[in-house]
Amino acid sequence: MQTLNTLPYQQHFRRLPSAFYSNVMPQGLEAPELVIVSDGLANELNLDAQSLYEETSLKLLSGNAVLDRWQPLAMKYTGHQFGYYNPDLGDGRGLLLAETQLDNGRLIDFHLKGAGLTPYSRMGDGRAVLRSSIREFLASEALAALGVPTTRALCVVASQTPVQRETTEKGATLLRCTESHIRFGHFEYAYHTRQRELLEALANYVIQRYFPCLPCNEQGYADLFRLIAERTAGTLAQWQLLGFNHGVMNTDNMSILGETFDFGPYGFLDTFDPGHICNHSDTGGRYAFDQQPGIAHWNLSVLAQAMSPLVEREALSEGLRAYGEVFNAKFISGMRAKLGLLNARNDDENLIFQTLQMLANNRLDFSLFFRALSDFDTTITRQTWRDDCIDIKSFDQWWQVYSERLKHEAQSASDRRAQMLAVNPRYVLRNYLAQEAITAAEQGHYEPVRRLHQVLKHPFDEQPEHADFAKRPPDWANKLEISCSS
Ligand code: AMP
Ligand code: MG
Repeated sequence: MQTLNTLPYQQHFRRLPSAFYSNVMPQGLEAPELVIVSDGLANELNLDAQSLYEETSLKLLSGNAVLDRWQPLAMKYTGHQFGYYNPDLGDGRGLLLAETQLDNGRLIDFHLKGAGLTPYSRMGDGRAVLRSSIREFLASEALAALGVPTTRALCVVASQTPVQRETTEKGATLLRCTESHIRFGHFEYAYHTRQRELLEALANYVIQRYFPCLPCNEQGYADLFRLIAERTAGTLAQWQLLGFNHGVMNTDNMSILGETFDFGPYGFLDTFDPGHICNHSDTGGRYAFDQQPGIAHWNLSVLAQAMSPLVEREALSEGLRAYGEVFNAKFISGMRAKLGLLNARNDDENLIFQTLQMLANNRLDFSLFFRALSDFDTTITRQTWRDDCIDIKSFDQWWQVYSERLKHEAQSASDRRAQMLAVNPRYVLRNYLAQEAITAAEQGHYEPVRRLHQVLKHPFDEQPEHADFAKRPPDWANKLEISCSS
């Protein structure tokens, strides 16, 4: 087991032309304190999680020290924010410290978020607050445990450095880990500044590091776009199947690996409201839950345009079509699994949409409903949900159709139950759970966030001792507003 000091490091990103980054040193936070560590990720990195609590590690994690073998940099990118192009983006408060090399040769970026000002900070202060850092930590751990592609977070460090948001909050850092911090916006930067050599260098870099089976030529670039589109489709299907609302799907928050990236005012659905908007600044609902698949397609068309100097239009259209096909196939097969249907039948799509419509009409809890559905023919009776319904007609019709449909399934009820319990989580990161943990952490009590983290690591397990985390949210949770300032 290694410590931060002994891990092997590389500076691979520096092989790109220097237009893609600026050298920046972190600005340290005062009185750093380790809030929470992902022991699972530490293990994957061959890193001793306990060593992160030591003073030398804390200095590195809070921006107060830098290893000689690190050469921190801020990345330059641009992007479309809420549909409009912004040429002035880049890492405004995060630094790529280095990449660590795993035993299998894979490189993992160490990106310190909240490390201070950079040339791309614009009006910002270069800081992150404890609240948003904990939210990012919990979401990346929760999604990873659910099997959704996502960036990871190694740990969160709190400090006594005051940071001004709506109120004065505590500054914090988060060490984000992933194979790539390259966003659609990196390609947009090269395209919109009309630097073809940058575009080509970027495409070649992405192929060589992440898709080495592809050639660095026009066919390879076309395949690269299609693979990015397909990965994005897979992730989007999982978001829709698990009720995850990202909230800020700007193109600078879209990873070229298709990972869930940059957690702001995200939310997991409580009641099933397809038009749910988790981001209170998103007054038009551009990033509402049911808009996400279409927005990802829009974002991919922006990437396609940025790659158009390298790839024929027809090949890019093909990639966009692949997005739709993969999304639909994964969403439908995922919904079948949620409903416990193994054999595909022609009218399944109708049943899927009828189920979602019924949930929406009755404002039933998305995760609780699907989890309970595994007990459909044992403990669940028609009355279990009927009493909570406001559109009883749609509920009764759905019940009838679903009961009939189950008769066409060959598997036993117990097999079906086991299969459904493996795809419908018992524990999701509801906003109110995160908020309770954050409120305690802001007062210096880290036990609640650590306990929540432990529960979210096993979302499909019963964990009867943690049943309180699986309950329907309290009334106050409906009024919870998640600030998008972070
Ligand atoms: P986000 O909405 O978090 O994806 O951020 C959009 C852009 O604003 C990125 O270029 C960020 O680096 C930058 N940014 C966000 N918050 C801050 C901050 N507090 N200080 C400096 N830059 C920031
Ligand atoms: Mg961002």
